[in-house]
Amino acid sequence: MNDAVLCLSNAGRTYPGTPPVESLRGVDLTVGTGEMVAVVGPSGSGKTTLLNLAAGLDRPTSGSVRLAGRAVGDLTDRQLSGLRAHALGVVFQQFFLLDQLSSVDNVANGLLYRGVPARQRRRAAAEALDRVGLSHRAAHPAGKLSGGERQRVAIARAIVGRPALVLADEPTGNLDSANGAQILALLQDLHADGVTLLVITHDATVAGACPRRVDLRDGRVVADTGRTA
Ligand code: ADP
Ligand code: MG
Repeated sequence: MNDAVLCLSNAGRTYPGTPPVESLRGVDLTVGTGEMVAVVGPSGSGKTTLLNLAAGLDRPTSGSVRLAGRAVGDLTDRQLSGLRAHALGVVFQQFFLLDQLSSVDNVANGLLYRGVPARQRRRAAAEALDRVGLSHRAAHPAGKLSGGERQRVAIARAIVGRPALVLADEPTGNLDSANGAQILALLQDLHADGVTLLVITHDATVAGACPRRVDLRDGRVVADTGRTA
């Protein structure tokens, strides 16, 4: 077993209210370097809550979350932002690109909070675009690309800084099956190159393509096929 990139220990997240909503309870989940893990579960099972904890966008209300060796609960907001900028790449169902900006500038933005000089950002962005097969679209405004191309730009932005962990939330959710299949093939390629991936998905094809699968129900892990690295 190699070092863990992400480690949730007895992690819980309760939202206040009457009654309070326990959206995650007692979750133990360790993701090792180089793993490709699918997280599946019905609506309301806690997938987004888990993603928010893993992404350092939220803190657990019980237990602990360690990302790249750092306990998220112990960090100040500023330290957490720094950790996110260095350790994480995130891909969303809705892409979240800036439509007026070129593809290459969208990807370069993935390095904005790292203090990398502009020229180096653009060079790294060009390489990442090449990695996702979109060099020929570098100067294209993101808003003029197809959905599949936009998601590839978003993936390039997520990997441009070579983060320890790439989180994807329903990465094929807004795509037709042909484009979804291309995105899945790209994620598998990245996995083969050693990128560590945690993929939240409703798509059985995507889940089936991941070497490890974790099932959530009512905020708990009810099945985990186990660590693969
Ligand atoms: P999923 O992504 O699997 O659909 P979520 O993590 O979004 O599940 O939600 C899990 C549970 O937590 C749900 O019952 C949801 O209503 C509740 N929940 C999520 N976010 C909040 C919030 N900000 N305030 C109160 N309850 C929430
Ligand atoms: Mg959700």
